[in-house]
Amino acid sequence: MWARTIRSSWSSRKRSFLPEPEYRGRFAPSPTGPLHFGSLVAAVGSYLEAKKHCGIWLLRMEDLDTPRCVPGAADGILRTLEACGLHWDEAVLYQSQRAAAYEEALQQLKNSGATYPCACTRKEIADSALHGIEGPVYPGTCRHGIPVGREGRAWRVRAVLNSSPFTPQPSPVTFCDALQGRISQTLASEIGDFVVKRADGLFAYQLAVVVDDAFQGVPLGVGHPGLSAPACCGK
Ligand SMILES: [Zn+2]
Repeated sequence: MWARTIRSSWSSRKRSFLPEPEYRGRFAPSPTGPLHFGSLVAAVGSYLEAKKHCGIWLLRMEDLDTPRCVPGAADGILRTLEACGLHWDEAVLYQSQRAAAYEEALQQLKNSGATYPCACTRKEIADSALHGIEGPVYPGTCRHGIPVGREGRAWRVRAVLNSSPFTPQPSPVTFCDALQGRISQTLASEIGDFVVKRADGLFAYQLAVVVDDAFQGVPLGVGHPGLSAPACCGK
């Protein structure tokens, strides 16, 4: 009995002395022009959320799509944030300087068989007549090999690995949005295999954001059936 009491007491003390995991939030503007009001609201929201948790507020410049970036816009955004008293806690991460990290991640995906080259043009995909909530759903034309006489232009990730009539239907990805509540999406039928490296050689946002969140230690609030969901999704 005493042993259990001591263990229980030590256990609660240990819990009380263990530091809480540090909250790390980020704001990631795209330098395609001056910081507009909607983005400033998002910046204030993420800043206050980080400070409420005595956490770290990070800044990431989403200058991945270099042809769309406006010269001087990134510096202008930083000056605007500073003028509003929004000071970031670590060095600014520029996606335009992260190509090596994205290439390494893509190589890992290639090695695991999770990606494949795709020869399709936008028009071919748009004409496929498969449409989801976010636009055309990739019909899987190149999933089992590029059509004869064509060349791979982009790299796609398989929304479902090793699908066959004998494997179970994919379960939806579910997460809890702080404002909109429970969000659920079945990737395979609603989006399809998605691009991680574009035909123009640029890495897609979907790859970069995951690599950068892991690099900067920003957690993703993603739940999944069978795993414990965030408290607000437990209804
Ligand atoms: Zn294709």
